[in-house]
Amino acid sequence: MTSSLPPVTPGTLGTPLTPGATRVLLLGAGELGKEVAIELQRLGVEVVAADRYPDAPAMQVAHRSHVLDMLDPDALRALLAAERPHVVVPEIEAIATHVLAEAEADGVRVVPTARATVLTMDREGIRRLAAEELGLPTSPYRFVGSLEDLRTAVGELGLPVVVKPVMSSSGKGQSVVRTADDVETAWEHAQHGGRATGSADGPPARVIVEGFVAFDSEITLLTVRHVGGTTFCDPIGHVQVDGDYRESWQPAALAPATLVEAQRVAATVTGALGGWGVFGVELFVVGDRVLFSEVSPRPHDTGLVTLVSQDLSEFALHARAVLGLPAGDVLRLGAGDGQGAVDGQGAAASCAVLAEGTGVPVFSGVDVALAVPTAQVRLFGKPSVAGRRRVAVTLARGADVEEARERARSSAAALRVELT
Ligand code: AMP
Repeated sequence: MTSSLPPVTPGTLGTPLTPGATRVLLLGAGELGKEVAIELQRLGVEVVAADRYPDAPAMQVAHRSHVLDMLDPDALRALLAAERPHVVVPEIEAIATHVLAEAEADGVRVVPTARATVLTMDREGIRRLAAEELGLPTSPYRFVGSLEDLRTAVGELGLPVVVKPVMSSSGKGQSVVRTADDVETAWEHAQHGGRATGSADGPPARVIVEGFVAFDSEITLLTVRHVGGTTFCDPIGHVQVDGDYRESWQPAALAPATLVEAQRVAATVTGALGGWGVFGVELFVVGDRVLFSEVSPRPHDTGLVTLVSQDLSEFALHARAVLGLPAGDVLRLGAGDGQGAVDGQGAAASCAVLAEGTGVPVFSGVDVALAVPTAQVRLFGKPSVAGRRRVAVTLARGADVEEARERARSSAAALRVELT
């Protein structure tokens, strides 16, 4: 392992590519990491991006990049020794987290903390922490490792249930079981869809079975833990299809008491995880109850909307927080009607653009997409698509959520993606 680095002096940043540089290593270089890298670049930080394939989005805006399997402890140790980062910012869960604990012991700042990366690496650690240690309300759940135990759990929880691999995200391997006949299909789907797939010669992948929550709405509460305290962004509403985010908007309408409860849940879980950075706390709102669903210890995909809704996006807030800087005031931007920028009125929305098939994306209709009032686009620059992948997002503001969503959707509809 590396010899100890001098700690980052609070409030002091060096110049990139010089001996005094402040170096940040991004583990995972997708579209969210790309925006974090851009914000770090704006602060003159030396940015290094790593992922398992070359030319990943964040690599295209970093000073240097590395291609490696981040689950390989030796490869990760070698990367840390070569780059000697002051701060390590994980963007994905699939990392050899014990190596992060070693780095932390060596004086490297791991975001938010090495322990938090372990706890949020799979669904079991964070769910047991939230529900069993912190006593936060969640859906009823069981963790099981066999089809037989899944049947028992379904019997105990009652139908319908949601079945998800413990190692998964973005709806991969997830399904809703509505009848007893669906149980085996859901088990098989979970075995093949997660990050750690069950195989004939290895143990089956563990799954979480959750009681299906007929929620009124689901929200992400972006929570920033920083040197100056804890700051909440306005709640973000979103729509998921097959467990994957398609649209988000801000602010999500919540009764004042529900917002207070949402902030309590978010403060409790992020406080238990500790460290500095942005957390995406996912909550279900059912009547006047707020159920904790899960938390990302990093910017959240539904938070892409903050690129146009706030003066400091979740990525700018993350960059500040992880460097030990105060988040500052988070100002909500206005409706974008040309009548003055920061009025705290209005709303903003994002709409994901997916490509399906195989090949390199080419976007057409970008001019039409941008002709929609207030619309902006982010084309991620993903070098290729195999299967279904998010390749861009459209963003818009409006006088209210409906107008903002309508604009983001029509901008997305105007974008055509051809795979070449
Ligand atoms: P997750 O990967 O756990 O965030 O799940 C993805 C999406 O699936 C959520 O945002 C919900 O829309 C839906 N979902 C997950 N768990 C449940 C549940 N217990 N009840 C109802 N819907 C759920």
